[in-house]
Amino acid sequence: MTFREKAGQFRGFLRGIVWVHTIARKRSIVCKGVAMPDKLTEAVSSAIRELVDANHILFDQGVVDGFGHVSARHPDRADRFLLARSMAPALVTETDVLEFDLEGNPVEKGGPAAYLERFIHGEIYRKRPDVNAVVHSHSPSVVPFGVVAGTKLRPMFHMCGFLGAGTPVFEIRDFAGNGSDLLISNNHLGAALAQSLGKGPAVLMRGHGSTVVGSSLRQVVFRAVYTEVGARLQAEAMRLGPVTYLTEEETVATTNTIGTQIDRAWFLWLKAAQKRSMAG
Ligand code: MN
Repeated sequence: MTFREKAGQFRGFLRGIVWVHTIARKRSIVCKGVAMPDKLTEAVSSAIRELVDANHILFDQGVVDGFGHVSARHPDRADRFLLARSMAPALVTETDVLEFDLEGNPVEKGGPAAYLERFIHGEIYRKRPDVNAVVHSHSPSVVPFGVVAGTKLRPMFHMCGFLGAGTPVFEIRDFAGNGSDLLISNNHLGAALAQSLGKGPAVLMRGHGSTVVGSSLRQVVFRAVYTEVGARLQAEAMRLGPVTYLTEEETVATTNTIGTQIDRAWFLWLKAAQKRSMAG
């Protein structure tokens, strides 16, 4: 064997070592990405599965696109919540779900990138013990109601009675000045948004989108879908003429009746989302 051949053989051997090392490193990165404990309680496993379904439904129903996110309060620890890593909701799978504390810090360090606006979730869970699920989206029909002064998003359709007396608008300039990127990218802005939400089911975010809350994932998904539907219908009605809104009593009565029917929508939307699923 010539020297050249021997050198070639040695280079091949070195390439083999580098290859094995690269694979090992990639594996360890993947393992690091699994930011959940090995042993999950049944309650947590089932919350994760429902959270994945909620992600897919919200995309399929046109509430979220590449952006927007949905979280659930941790079923065993009220001071934590579950939220996917930073990715398009339609593509979320169970291994993409991470656990966060209410500060918005991932419980497992060194994991994958988290959503820039995760502070929305932590600060709402902190302020609202009654809330167990949060949807933040840029669902398009809602956005105009956040930018036109004097026009409130209000229920004028029985499926939207939960919107109650009208939806507050969060003005980020009051807290971040005139030059912000409009994102809720820290706890200070998250707390201000939670304050603006108050005790209600939804808050609009001027020039950005909206955040809807619920006592369960199924309820918050229902509310997020019907906030978008209600906004579209209200805008259409306003073009025709003066709108008759629900009375306060009607908002209460419709909410009580429709509240018992949420599963009907959930299982339909889930089936539709599964049929068109893009998650691998
Ligand atoms: Mn956003």
